[in-house]
Amino acid sequence: MSSRPAIEISGAGPAGLAAALAVAGAGRAACVYERREDVGKRFHGDFQGLENWTTDADVLEELASLGIDGGFEHTPFHEVTCFSPDGTSREFRSTQPLFYLIRRGSEAGCLDTALKQQALDVGVEIRFGETLHHLPAGGIVTQGPRRADAIAAGYLFETDMADGAYAAISDQLAPRGYAYLLICKGRGTLASCLFDDFHNERRYLERCVEFYTEKVGVSMHNPRRFGGGGNFSLPRTARKGNILYAGESAGFQDPLFGFGIRWALISGAEAGRALADDDPARYERVWKQRLRAYHQTAATNRWFYDRMSDRGYAAALRKYPQGQDIRTWMQNVYAPSLWKRAWYYAVASRRYKPLLQVHEGCDCTWCRCERHMQVSDQRPGM
Ligand SMILES: Cc1cc2nc3c(=O)[nH]c(=O)nc-3n(C[C@H](O)[C@H](O)[C@H](O)COP(=O)(O)OP(=O)(O)OC[C@H]3O[C@@H](n4cnc5c(N)ncnc54)[C@H](O)[C@@H]3O)c2cc1C
Repeated sequence: MSSRPAIEISGAGPAGLAAALAVAGAGRAACVYERREDVGKRFHGDFQGLENWTTDADVLEELASLGIDGGFEHTPFHEVTCFSPDGTSREFRSTQPLFYLIRRGSEAGCLDTALKQQALDVGVEIRFGETLHHLPAGGIVTQGPRRADAIAAGYLFETDMADGAYAAISDQLAPRGYAYLLICKGRGTLASCLFDDFHNERRYLERCVEFYTEKVGVSMHNPRRFGGGGNFSLPRTARKGNILYAGESAGFQDPLFGFGIRWALISGAEAGRALADDDPARYERVWKQRLRAYHQTAATNRWFYDRMSDRGYAAALRKYPQGQDIRTWMQNVYAPSLWKRAWYYAVASRRYKPLLQVHEGCDCTWCRCERHMQVSDQRPGM
């Protein structure tokens, strides 16, 4: 390990821990500050999907190439049952895993705890209970979301149901979003993921429970409520001098369906590598090459999805060619194209405000920092 000062990282989520692993892998010391008492405290042991459909390359292989091992519990899923707004269902299947089911939280086996252990094993220092607001010597900001553009409200439970993944698309269950049910090895997560009408989240969740009870006979033992939110933004830059932003802090999250883990891990690792090599400018180039086109495509897809309503969702599902590998179909949906890019710049981008505002000489981790807002708001005589 080099004798140079440790690279500081603010936030021990997937992006922050991936950054720390990359820094350590390059032979530099890394120090991660986490404001809570452990990793994964934003989550509750709920199931999430590590998507494996945006590229042909397998996500676990991609992560391994970035120095992130698959030591977390993960179960490959090749099949999803999807319900149309009228309640009819279709099976979608893939030869390669469509996604890997993982758990998020502070328990053993969760993605967060496995990343923490991997980081500790290579000598990363993690300071729990410490909040970092300034990075005068530069560093990496991976503090997660700043506001809720979409929310999930759900139940965690134990069950005797067989493993399975289900999604329902209907504004009656999850406005502009989707309702999901994930069962694996006796545990379950059922949630409504809403992109609108957050005020009525409880009502939508109870409808989801009724829906899945009727359709698949969901049985929930010891149900516990959970919830959370995420934000979407399309960055113009993820760099402020020697401060690099990664994961949700930078806005890297699929605006169509809210899948952010893969992009958090990739962006965190690339930010860590670049800073360890004293080449922060490289990070800008790398995330633009790897993530920007997918991000813009997903934003364009979201623009259309927002306008579809139940009839549109049903029509879109009917368009899925019977027998086609769902992964291939999803890759087409997410594939960047000229017209999607043009639509993004002409129309879809207007919805998103950049998270990062670059102020001259500012070292704060939060880029719309109050100090500068106050200064710029001050007018003579006020
Ligand atoms: C209910 C729910 C379900 C989801 N399901 C999926 C899914 O199925 N698939 C998927 O890909 N994505 C999913 N997501 C999104 C995914 O969880 C996020 O995109 C991902 O966790 C982002 O990782 P991150 O490291 O950027 O941020 P986070 O995981 O939020 O980590 C940020 C960390 O920074 C800490 N922190 C914040 N401020 C400071 C500070 N000033 N100083 C020190 N520490 C700080 C926080 O405590 C936190 O631990 C879901 C999100 C929610 C809420």
